[in-house]
Amino acid sequence: METQSSPLHVYFLPMMAPGHMIPMVDMARQFARQGVKATILTTPLYAAQISKTINRDNKELETQITIRLLEFPYRESGLPEGCEDLSNTTTSEQMHRFFNALNHFQIPVERFAAEDRPDCIIAGAMFVWSNDLAARLGITRLSFWGTGFLPLCAHHSLLKHRPHEKIESDTEEFVIPDLPDTLKMTKQQVPETLRDDAESNVKEIFAKIFKAEAGSYGMVMNSFYELEPAYVKYGKEVIGKKAWHVGPVSLCNKEDGEKSQRGQAASIGEEECLNWLNSKNPNSVVYVCFGSMSIFSAAQLREIAAGVEASGQPFIWVVKQNMEEEMNDWMPEGFEERVENRGLIIRGWAPQVLILDHEAIGGFVTHCGWNSVLEGIVAGVTMVTWPLSAEQFFNEKMVTQVLKIGVPVGAQAWTRRTDSRAPINRENIEAAVKELMIGEEAEERRSRAIALGNMAKKAVEPGGSSDTDLRSLLEELRKNRK
Ligand code: UDP
Repeated sequence: METQSSPLHVYFLPMMAPGHMIPMVDMARQFARQGVKATILTTPLYAAQISKTINRDNKELETQITIRLLEFPYRESGLPEGCEDLSNTTTSEQMHRFFNALNHFQIPVERFAAEDRPDCIIAGAMFVWSNDLAARLGITRLSFWGTGFLPLCAHHSLLKHRPHEKIESDTEEFVIPDLPDTLKMTKQQVPETLRDDAESNVKEIFAKIFKAEAGSYGMVMNSFYELEPAYVKYGKEVIGKKAWHVGPVSLCNKEDGEKSQRGQAASIGEEECLNWLNSKNPNSVVYVCFGSMSIFSAAQLREIAAGVEASGQPFIWVVKQNMEEEMNDWMPEGFEERVENRGLIIRGWAPQVLILDHEAIGGFVTHCGWNSVLEGIVAGVTMVTWPLSAEQFFNEKMVTQVLKIGVPVGAQAWTRRTDSRAPINRENIEAAVKELMIGEEAEERRSRAIALGNMAKKAVEPGGSSDTDLRSLLEELRKNRK
C-alpha cells in the first residue's frame, strides 16, 4: 500500500477501443488498490460504461479513482457524431480520421495535468504527443500497447530484419529471426503496419507511433512472467526498453457482477446467461467470439453456423452486427430451431469473462486478440485460433506452438475489418472444434491450459510475479518523483 502522505498520482489515457479501454480501466483499478490515486481520462461514452464499476471500487475498496471527461472532437476530425470508439468506424478512411482525432486530446489533457500535477501518465501508444507533454510537465510517461511480450518481440524482429521483404511469395514460410522459439509465418500474415505495400497513411501513422515509443520511459504490459519468460527477457534485453508486467489485469474482477459489467452493456442478462451455462456439463461448451472489432461477411457467418452445428458440441456464439449486410441473411434455414437446446446466440456484446470463467466452458474459438487470449488462459480453456488482423497471427503462434493449448482453424492471411469473402469454410471449422473438444489430444491440451490458468492467478496474488513487478514499478515512480 502507498504509505506517503501524498499518494502517487497516475494518469491513465486509454485509446478509445474496447481492447485498450477495458484492460487499462482494470489496470487503473489495480494500481488504485495499491494506494495510488488514479485518474482515467476518457470520453463521455466510455465514462458511462465504467462509472458504475469505478464508484463501486471507490466505495467498497476505498480506492481513489477519478474520471476526467474528454469531449470527442467529431467535427474537427470529420467523424460522424457518436463515433468515439475505434470499433464504430466502418471504413479505413474513418479509421485514419479516428487516429488523427487522437491528436486533438493533447490540449485538454495538458490542461487537466497542469491542474492535477500527476506523477506519471500511462498512455496508449497511439497518443504520440504524450512524451512531449510528459517532458514539459517533468513527469514519467509509460506506454501501453495492449499486447504481450511475444507479439512485441516478433513485431520488433520483423521491423528490424524485414525477412518478409526478401521473399517474393505471399505463401512461402519464413522464420521470424532471432526469437527464443522457431516461429514461422508467411508474408500474407504479416501485419499491415510492417508491410512495404501498406497504404501510405497507415505507414505514416505507425511511423509516428514507433518514433514516439522510442522516447517513452517504458512500457506497462498486461501479461505475466510465467506465460512467456523467454520473451520477457528478450523484450527487456533486445528491445532495450524498461517494461513491467502487471497482468492478467482481468483478474481484478472477482464477483460475477463485476465480470458481467466489463466493457459495453451486455446483450444478455447475467442470470439468463448463467442459467444456460449451469444447465451444461463441465468443459462441454465451446465459446465462439471474435472480439470487439471483427466484422464478418454474411457468407462467413453462414460457414460458422454450419461448422458449429456439424461439430455436435454445445456452443455460445457471439455475433456482431454488420451494418452493411442484412443481418438475417446469414442464418441458414432452420438453424436456430435445430440448435435450440445446445446453442446460445448472443447478438451484440457478451459478458466474456463471466462466460469463460464458467466451468461449463471447455473451449474458445477466438480471433486471438491479446485480451481474449489472456482471458482464455486465466479460465484454463483451450482455443481454436482464428487470427484476423492486428498482431493476432503472432498470438496464434504463441497459443498453438509455444503454449500448445490451441488448434489453428487454418487462417492464412491478415484481413481488413470488412471482407466480403468467407476464407474459412465449414469443414475446417467443424474439424477444428471437434479436435479441440473431443480430439485425441484434447485432455493433454486442457491440462496444460489449466496449469497456465493457475499460474496466472498466482502471478497477481501478493508476492506473485505481476504483483512484485507492479510494486517495483511504483517504487521507481516514487524515486522519479524525488
Ligand atoms: N469483449 C467482451 N464481449 C464481447 C466482445 C469482446 O467482453 O462481446 C471484451 C473481451 O473480453 C476483451 C475485449 O473485449 O477484453 C476485446 O479485446 P481483444 O484484445 O480480445 O480483441 P479486440 O476487440 O481488441 O480485437
